[in-house]
Amino acid sequence: MKCPICGAAELAHDTRDLPYICKGETTTIPAVIGDFCPVCGEVISGMAESVRTSALMLEFNKQVDLRQLVELRQQRPS
Ligand SMILES: [Zn+2]
Repeated sequence: MKCPICGAAELAHDTRDLPYICKGETTTIPAVIGDFCPVCGEVISGMAESVRTSALMLEFNKQVDLRQLVELRQQRPS
């Protein structure tokens, strides 16, 4: 299958750790199963896999929000 995003290359079915960036902080989503585009980096994954990775991303977003909130409070003089 050709990449539906850039159309430049065939997608390669693989399992990879994907970097995920939220508000300047980076994490890794481990063992993502999907079809990977070598040109634009797009990942097409199945429904169950999308649900799993989205949940991990949401969880990381929450952690980042919480950490930045705590840091903000610590910076403020009491
Ligand atoms: Zn592509």
